[in-house]
Amino acid sequence: MKHDVSEVPAAKVSKSQALYDKALGMMPGGCSRNTILRKPHPVYAAHAKGCWITDIEGKKYVDFSNNMASLIHGHAHPRVVEAINEQVKKGTAYAVGTVQEIEYAEHLLNRNPSFERIRFANSGTEAVMACLKASRAFTGRPKIAKVEGAYHGLYDYAEVSQCPNPQNWGKQDHPASVPVAYGTPKAALDDVVVIPFNDPMHAVAILDEHKDDIACVLIDLMPHRVGLVPIQEEFLEALETWTRANGALLVLDEVITFRCGYGGAQEKHPIQPDLTAMGKIIGGGFPVGALVGRAEVMEVMNPLAKKVLFPHSGTFSANPITMTAGRVSMEMYDRAAVKKLNRLSAYARDCISQAIQVSGVPACITGGGSMFRIQLKHEAPQNYRAAFTTPNEKKATAMLLDHLFENGFILMNTCSGALSTAMTQKHVDMLAEALLTGFRKIRGTLRDNGK
Ligand code: PMP
Repeated sequence: MKHDVSEVPAAKVSKSQALYDKALGMMPGGCSRNTILRKPHPVYAAHAKGCWITDIEGKKYVDFSNNMASLIHGHAHPRVVEAINEQVKKGTAYAVGTVQEIEYAEHLLNRNPSFERIRFANSGTEAVMACLKASRAFTGRPKIAKVEGAYHGLYDYAEVSQCPNPQNWGKQDHPASVPVAYGTPKAALDDVVVIPFNDPMHAVAILDEHKDDIACVLIDLMPHRVGLVPIQEEFLEALETWTRANGALLVLDEVITFRCGYGGAQEKHPIQPDLTAMGKIIGGGFPVGALVGRAEVMEVMNPLAKKVLFPHSGTFSANPITMTAGRVSMEMYDRAAVKKLNRLSAYARDCISQAIQVSGVPACITGGGSMFRIQLKHEAPQNYRAAFTTPNEKKATAMLLDHLFENGFILMNTCSGALSTAMTQKHVDMLAEALLTGFRKIRGTLRDNGK
């Protein structure tokens, strides 16, 4: 069968519906990334600029998703566009070295003293995977430890217990290793040690059970699916102390949280991670991943060593388009820009909090840096289980997202937002106003939620 998008019939259904019907016959679920799905059909972008997206029906939206927190300057920033236009003319990928890779490596390494060496990759998934493999290679140990509910991409070991439910998650103080994909080998589950978030006592007791086998503890400083609440200092320090005492590595997943500080969210904490995974904003709008960290640990990837402990490569890694877009974007995201965006985001969390209070809806706002999440719960959840949504909350969240969408706002499907430097107070005020009417709309649905 021939697939030609231009053949979509001008029928009574909208252009978007017709496209989606066609896509359903070609891709499982009609898409390659589930995050674009919404009912009755996805929105198809025509073009975007700054904090605005226009869809193919001509409708405009303020974009608070920013491609899942990956666009720090919004869409099509003129300086990024100009720089990559120049680079495209010179070629997009070559199996020889580029100046762009070295220039960008230098910029990123200068952002944080814990970044002694760097290697680029093509996604956050790849960056986390490489961190875990480097940790195993360095320590000679098989297991990794991670927080229940934390999302770290698609690698088998990183994705364990990403979305467990009350039927399979086991005891609160000793969570089970729950697979995400059917067919995940049991060996992978056995090699992932799952700890509860912000619970140092139980986390350390669990780690102790595997202390000779753990290569690294993998941590997100503000895990999105765990409720987007910042990590408690006591928890983080307990994990760092444990890794130091037991010969394991401390690995941070800053794929999302890197946007929170000039040198990442880790800047705010008195810790020394061994490795950090990055992605999203450092690609300047293009696919990217990177791992940075201690020279001694990163050495496991050195192909010039007598014995290469972890061979690491990738066809499109460090391609000059990503390197150019990333460098231009991150140079513009200097300390002043980080501070300004974080201030605007604190203002957004304040405005949303006021809308919650005025509407009287049982909801809370979490987040930090340039992120926020609205959860339809009385109190900010402190771990994955507390953040787990009831069917009622799920229904009301979908209604709220639909309401925002109809009023021209795109958020992530967890009702989270990541701001961009293209935004101003005006966009935040517009969102807060739409949220107020939205909260009033869903109040009835939440009435049975029980205090
Ligand atoms: N880690 C975290 C914390 C993430 O949020 C994500 C993506 N949402 C990833 C890893 C995986 O990144 P990617 O989608 O680029 O593979």
